[in-house]
Amino acid sequence: MPPSSDATASTPPPAGSGSVLASVVALAEHDGSAWSDLRIAPSDALGLTAASHVLHYGSACFEGLKAHRQPDGAVRPFRSAKHAVRMAASAEQLMLPAPPEALFNDAIDLMVAEVGPELTPEPPGSLYLRPTLIGNENDVLAAGRPSSTAQFFVVAAGMGNYFADRPLTLLVETDVPRTVTRFGRVKCGANYVMALGLIDQARRDHGADQVLFAPGGIIEETGASNFMVVAGGKVITPPLGEAFLHGVTRDSLLHLAPDLGLAVEERHLTVDELVELAQAPDTEVLLTGTAAVVAPVGTLLHDGERVEVKGSIEAPLGKRLKTALTDIQTGDAPRPADW
Ligand SMILES: *Cc1c(COP(=O)(O)O)cnc(C)c1O
Repeated sequence: MPPSSDATASTPPPAGSGSVLASVVALAEHDGSAWSDLRIAPSDALGLTAASHVLHYGSACFEGLKAHRQPDGAVRPFRSAKHAVRMAASAEQLMLPAPPEALFNDAIDLMVAEVGPELTPEPPGSLYLRPTLIGNENDVLAAGRPSSTAQFFVVAAGMGNYFADRPLTLLVETDVPRTVTRFGRVKCGANYVMALGLIDQARRDHGADQVLFAPGGIIEETGASNFMVVAGGKVITPPLGEAFLHGVTRDSLLHLAPDLGLAVEERHLTVDELVELAQAPDTEVLLTGTAAVVAPVGTLLHDGERVEVKGSIEAPLGKRLKTALTDIQTGDAPRPADW
């Protein structure tokens, strides 16, 4: 047993339950010139003060990835390197020092070694990992400049099967954007809190689960998931750009789609075209992201109309795409070379 394992939760969560949060993090600190070594630290001992830059000026970004129990019992993270690259891009926009790829991957591996054996349930459960980067300089007057110091830490939680038990309902928003263009592909809490009011209103006023942001009628993504349509033997999804978050799940599914006989079309998709495509009985509308992997969308609320997506009720292709990906994650199918 590692020395600090008594600081972690002791019972793995059964599949289907909520999450069990590890009480420790893997932590490294940047003093303005270099990163410290990694260490395991209690998650309530980060040493933040009320004057921390992050608490006032939002200098924070994060990642979300999973590690899965393999057939031999080992716990293996999925595409950690891809998340390291994305965090580095977020860090650059927030003027925070990016953890080098090796430090990022080492922190994931350290956290998985520390809490993975205890906290990771059998598939379809997994260990959810939340690498986080914050500016922690103590100076409330640092409004006009970056934090001179930073902390990078990895939070972990064992989680059960995270899936929606029914197709989702989306409110289509064509006026208000999710965030500003320059921050569309930055994974930062500020983007979430900016969209929160609209999403909450869509829930309360329309019974929607999420908002599909489509400024000017061009589809981007929802508050926390990428968007794709499966229709006529094709996966159609908006092309990468500055507008939305470049999901690792999106990337993985597009890589696997041809194996299922699906062509991939990365192109702009309008709300009008979506409404038209949704009429075909075999069209599936899907959201993608690390937590749920693939979630079918059964209803679009647009311009006061309810558009039912009949193909999403069973979503056979969505299920096949999801299984193709989760089989790789759990070691039941071979990984593509650079994953
Ligand atoms: C994290 C996130 C996604 C999904 O990205 P994955 O890498 O697939 O988990 C999509 N949209 C937003 C806004 C996100 O923050």
